[in-house]
Amino acid sequence: MALELPEAQTISSQMDKEIRGKTIKRAWINEKESAKQLKSGMINLAPAEFEKTLSGRKISSVKSYGKIIYVELGEGLNFIIAFETNGKVLYHEDESSIPEKWNTRFDFADGSAITVRMTGWGGASVFTDTQIRNHKYISKAYGSPLSKDFTFNAFNQMLEKKAGKQIKPVLIQQGELISGIGNAYLQDILFKTKIHPKRKIRDISQPERKTLHVAIKKILSEALKLGGREIHTDIYNNPGRYRLLVGKHMEAEPCPECGTKIEKITAAGSASYVCPKCQK
Ligand SMILES: [Zn+2]
Repeated sequence: MALELPEAQTISSQMDKEIRGKTIKRAWINEKESAKQLKSGMINLAPAEFEKTLSGRKISSVKSYGKIIYVELGEGLNFIIAFETNGKVLYHEDESSIPEKWNTRFDFADGSAITVRMTGWGGASVFTDTQIRNHKYISKAYGSPLSKDFTFNAFNQMLEKKAGKQIKPVLIQQGELISGIGNAYLQDILFKTKIHPKRKIRDISQPERKTLHVAIKKILSEALKLGGREIHTDIYNNPGRYRLLVGKHMEAEPCPECGTKIEKITAAGSASYVCPKCQK
């Protein structure tokens, strides 16, 4: 389960609060646990280089853009955390709470530490600002649907440009106006607005688009307030409190609105759970 905006933003703001301004005493990789990640490039520096490049650096800030967490290390250097499936970022007041299994770790001069554990696909890698600008998947230009730039007019213009496409791939694509929505929150957004994920954008009316714009902001900000979904934890290892309305757990269960069985379909290459009666 990939991090989406509410989880990435929860983790990045907690990290910013705990580690901004701290100096990394030692940055290191748990080689024994990280053979797969090193081989596949999920961790893009070799252990010795990782340690040499990051140790001694000061954390200038921690931010998130879309689903990705950016630990900014000054002089245009960044440590990037992205979980395409499962992973955990944990903060440790001291060494006593450090788990046995972690992949990358920062120890700070005051005795505190951050560990990153990847149990699925993703990245915990070092990139310069220039590399980020030229990278296909990571960008600091991602727009947040919770920012004031995400107005209805801007949203509508974006939809107009993609009028021939289905709504699902357009909303989960990471872009300069809207990013951070993945398959999980999208299902709730489309369920709440009664829009089928395979609807063509040109067939979605103006009133429906307005409802969609409101629902995107409402569901994501509600989830952010609750610290994200229940399956993800924050840096203090507390699970989020947002419970998805629809998803795998609802397959063949009655729709909360009309009682029809929720169906699993494939849309834009991934599963979507929909109410065949409510979502047109
Ligand atoms: Zn229904």
